[in-house]
Amino acid sequence: MTLDETLKSIPKGLYQNKKTGNVYEVIDIGEHSEDASLFVIYRRYPNISKRIWCLPVETWYEKFDRLHIIKASELTESGDENCTAIITNKAKCNICGDIIESRHRHDFKTCSCGNVSVDGGLDYLRRCYKKDQDSYTELSEYGIKEGA
Ligand SMILES: [Zn+2]
Repeated sequence: MTLDETLKSIPKGLYQNKKTGNVYEVIDIGEHSEDASLFVIYRRYPNISKRIWCLPVETWYEKFDRLHIIKASELTESGDENCTAIITNKAKCNICGDIIESRHRHDFKTCSCGNVSVDGGLDYLRRCYKKDQDSYTELSEYGIKEGA
């Protein structure tokens, strides 16, 4: 497959690991400098880590499914059967053990030790943390729309 074809078949956006359910954002397709093989360049979603990964394009399809995350309020209106909505926006602090949940767009919640905060409600996932990404566990859930 050419670079252009790959960019079309794996567009930038959100994808879900079939095994773990974790969500990732594809940011680009990269080309190996020696043999021109193609790699998917991606990072965790929400974008809270500085880490960026790459995976050979052929392997991508086996491991990831495309996600169309939309606002929960738009779920019933959308005609796209593959749409996914954020059902819960929450995280657990691994330091104090608190589970915090953002229930609406401007609902900014912080755990009792102040390490991690969640925001965005069911519209988007936003995270702030003081230590590192491993200092909290992502507990958000996504739902896939059943056939209209
Ligand atoms: Zn905490």
